[in-house]
Amino acid sequence: MSGNDLTVSGRILIVEDSDAIRTLMSGYLRQNGFDIYSVTSLLAARAAIKTFKPDVLVLDLGLDDGDGTELMSDLKASGCGCIVVSSRSDISDRLKLLELGADDYLIKPFDLHELFLRVRNMLTQRLRAVSSSDDVIVEYNGIRVVLATRSVIDQDGKVLTILTDSELLLIRSLSQSFGAVVTRKDLYTNVFGRKSFDRSRALDVLVSKLRHKLKDIGTNMDIKSVRGSGYMLLEEPDIS
Ligand code: CA
Repeated sequence: MSGNDLTVSGRILIVEDSDAIRTLMSGYLRQNGFDIYSVTSLLAARAAIKTFKPDVLVLDLGLDDGDGTELMSDLKASGCGCIVVSSRSDISDRLKLLELGADDYLIKPFDLHELFLRVRNMLTQRLRAVSSSDDVIVEYNGIRVVLATRSVIDQDGKVLTILTDSELLLIRSLSQSFGAVVTRKDLYTNVFGRKSFDRSRALDVLVSKLRHKLKDIGTNMDIKSVRGSGYMLLEEPDIS
């Protein structure tokens, strides 16, 4: 088995003014299953970041219309990863690039397979980061509420309790305004998916159940009832 069996797809933007190097990189990465778009200038790169929406940028520094480092601020806004490929091997150059937000650095000449592996690793990490952040709907003092398993877990991944679907919806709705009141009407709509208050009592029962679950697992998160308006999720002061 080679290390290639993990299939990761992604959009890669290559910014490189040398025709020979650009053709080699594009060909190799495309052959390995990535979507490739390549440009030769800063100007074209800026446009492509917006239209092609790359996951990873492979960036040369010395370009005809300026230095690749000028793209770093555009990248931050786009959330795309960046691997710099340059013949500048000086440690101060590399540190500067990493400080500006580059994720990785390859000194020319480099092995095409190494570039492929680094691109693939970056995509894998990004996928992992996206799925884990989507999956955790509440994170508080080391306690996390995980959507997929409906579980509340501690720092070590130990399951403290399992929530029902309604409890999950409720804690998600409350946590989006942690420390602030969420109206009964909004909670009701978010949890039960209806605008009418015909099951208004059901909300109070649900809040009470969730409150007990939170207390039982020993967190100091509490759901406070605010008379006349709604509920809020807050942190109880330590009793000790
Ligand atoms: Ca160049």
